[in-house]
Parts: sequence; C-alpha cells; structure tokens
Amino acid sequence: MIFDNPSPWKIKAIEPIPNPSPEERLKALSASGYNLFNVSSSLVTIDLLTDSGTGAMSQGQWSAILSGDESYAGSQSFYSLKKSVKDLFGYKVVIPTHQGRAAEDILFSAFGNKGKGVVSNHLFDTTTAHALEVGMKVFSCLDKKDKVFGGNFDLALLEKYLKEEEVELIVATVTCNSAGGLPVSLKNLRAVKKIADSHSVKIWIDMARIAENSYFQYLNGEGKSPKACALETCSLSDGGWMSSKKDGLVNIGGFIALKDKKNKEKYERLVELEILKEGFITYGGLAGRDMNALSVGLGEALDERYLKHRINEIKFLHTQLEEVGVPCVDPGGHAVYIDAGKWLPHLKSEDFPAQSLALALYLVGGIRTSEIGSLCAGRDNDGKQISCPGEYLRLAIPRRTYTSDHFMYIKRAFEIISKNKDSLPKLKFQKEAKKLRHFQSIFEDFSWTPSKYLNL
Ligand SMILES: *Cc1c(COP(=O)(O)O)cnc(C)c1O
Repeated sequence: MIFDNPSPWKIKAIEPIPNPSPEERLKALSASGYNLFNVSSSLVTIDLLTDSGTGAMSQGQWSAILSGDESYAGSQSFYSLKKSVKDLFGYKVVIPTHQGRAAEDILFSAFGNKGKGVVSNHLFDTTTAHALEVGMKVFSCLDKKDKVFGGNFDLALLEKYLKEEEVELIVATVTCNSAGGLPVSLKNLRAVKKIADSHSVKIWIDMARIAENSYFQYLNGEGKSPKACALETCSLSDGGWMSSKKDGLVNIGGFIALKDKKNKEKYERLVELEILKEGFITYGGLAGRDMNALSVGLGEALDERYLKHRINEIKFLHTQLEEVGVPCVDPGGHAVYIDAGKWLPHLKSEDFPAQSLALALYLVGGIRTSEIGSLCAGRDNDGKQISCPGEYLRLAIPRRTYTSDHFMYIKRAFEIISKNKDSLPKLKFQKEAKKLRHFQSIFEDFSWTPSKYLNL
C-alpha cells in the first residue's frame, strides 16, 4: 500500500540512528527502573515515545530560519506567522507562545472562570491540568460510535451538560489525542456550534493536529481540500491555540489565535499575562527564526500530498502489525495504538500489560514507545485508580522522520515478541510517583527472555 504512495520528499540531511547491543539494552532497562522515560536517547534505536517536536523540518523551513528577524518588537517573522495563521485558519489575532501548554496557561488564566465548566470531546492532559488550575470543572462527551470520526462530540450529552451545569466554554480537540488520535467531523462541529450558539457559549479549538483532522474531513467529502476543511473548522470557533510541535512541523513553538479583539477586557488581560509570562506580543517565547519556520511549516502540513502520505504511513504500520496478529485500535492521525490488554490476556489492568509490552519492545529491538493505559491514567484524589478506555501501547510516529524500512523492523520485533508473549511478566511498583506517575515511577523487575534480539 505504501509503495503506491511513496513519500513526497527525499532525504537531504541524515541523522545516524544509535544501535545499542542487546546487552546494553538490558543494562539500560534495569538502570532505568523499567521506565523508558529514564533511558538516554543514545540507547534508543527507533524512538516512538511521542510525535511532539520530534519531526523533521524541510529545506523551506531551514532556509526560512536563516532569514529570521530577531527584533524584539515588530519582528517581520511575527508578521509572517500572523499572515500564515490568518490565511490558513482565518484568525486575525495571533499571540505566539513557546509551546502549547503556555498558550493554555495564559488562555485559561485570562478567559477561565472559577467554578464554571469546560465541556470537550476530550481534553488533552495538560489542558485538563490548566482548566483545573484556575478552578474550572471539566466534562467530556466523546461519542465513539462513528467508525471514522471517533473523536466526535456526543451531541445529546453536550446539550445535557449545557442545561445542567454552568458551562462557560466548549473545547474541540482535533484530532482527539486521548481517543486514539481519531478525528472530529465538520458535520459534528457545525452541530456543536449550533448548540453552543443557542446557549451563548464560546467554542475554542485545540489545534495541535488540525491538519491531520482536516485531511480526514476532506477524505470523507466534507470539503474541497484539507485547507478548505481547516478554514471551516476554525470558522466555527471563537478562537483556539496550537502546540506547533505537532502539525506546525517544528521542534518547539505554539500560539493563541482569536477571531477578533471584541472582548476588550479579556484581550487586554491576555496581553498582560503574555508579557508577564512569555515575552513581548511579537515573539512570545520564540526566536524570530522559530516563527519563520513555523509560518512555513503550517502551510506544508496542510499540503494534500504530505497529508496523504502521513495518514497512509500510519495505516501501513497498522496493517503490518495486524498481519502478525497484533490487535490495534482503528488507525487515526499520528500513532498506532496497540490493544495490549487484548493481546496479553494473562495480564490484568493492575499488572500494566502495555508497560510490559513496551519493555519487551525495547529489549527486542531498541524501540521506545509509551504506555497509554492504567499506568498513565493514574489515581484520583482519593487514591483510586482512574479508569481508561483501554490498556494501550502507543507507537507515536514523528513526522517525516522514519521510512517503511523502519516500520518493517518494528513488525519483525512484534513477530519475535508474539512467540514469547504468554511469558511477559506483570509489573509491580518499586516506587510509585504521586502525580503524572508514568513519567517518574519505577518498577521492581522485568524478567523475560525473548527468543531473538534485533539490531539495525
Ligand atoms: C501536545 C498537546 C498539547 C500541549 O502542548 P505542548 O506543546 O506539549 O505544551 C495540548 N493539546 C494537545 C491535543 C496536544 O497534543
């Protein structure tokens, strides 16, 4: 399949891939406390931990970097970014930030209201944290029924929250990271807008993966191009923010974007906080060259040929893994999610099956992934395990970075694991971290011997 759709770019600069030996991997695993966040990147062969800030820039972006305008105020690079955001998304007001969560911090501090509600299809974890930080309540109404648009809002549930709670804000996360990276349809967003208008509630878009989301809308006949779909998605909102480390195709960056400055008081507060926390409004934590690279990257991310390859590479890896019997969640935008709970039925949720699989994958092939299951979900304030959609292992694919060769190597690693999967051990905490425990916790042991090890 991928061979009918080769990458629409060729490689100009290369970065060597580390190739630690099986003995080195075994040592690194034990030294990490069986937590892959503690492993040095020099000991990782293929890094699928995240797609955030890990992609490759184009020659167009690298040349834009050289002409960055580093003026403190009125930088030409800021005006380029502003123009890209206006042309591609229709927002007139742009405020740069160093990454997505900084935009969330400032937006929620300025526009949020203590005790009021935020309803979303599902918020990303940093967004939840910022909403809670300003004392807001969060409600999710994900409707998983649609086979393609698994990130859609459940409209009846949305109405219910708007009637019963004091909701101040609706957030559409496109694509929905916590729902397998699945997209939200334009049809659904139009209905959300109608409901929001009837309750006079504002809509914001979490735009981290808006290009991938727009491609799914376009593929399903909702617009004449991905660009047209992105523009319409944003036209249904009052504003948004973006972690540009995803569909901005840059390694760092973000911004807040608003339709207008009509809410003068809130806008002025936004500017105050921006200057206090991020920097002057024409650079906000970014170098001029960063803003230049971003203004080029936003356009490239919405290119139809790029998106076709991007979505197909995820589908390709998904197909390869299912071919060797690995059960996966339906393919979305930026990652393949493996249902480790289903594949390793001898392990219960509290044994962290996806973490066990992550460690096995590192041991066999030096491949680093992340657990998106009970470990990542963590505990509530009463110490009770928070439930999660499934015991998933996420293989996040950095943009324009790996080739189908690497995907075949990953497939081979899974073939090897499948021969010994019934002996994959449960994991027990040696030390459980209190907050965001998947980053910091360490485990007692992981004794498992694969039938073979891979090396690139
Ligand atoms: C990554 C991400 C964020 C936060 O952005 P950072 O750049 O990591 O701070 C917010 N929302 C979504 C959907 C994301 O994927």
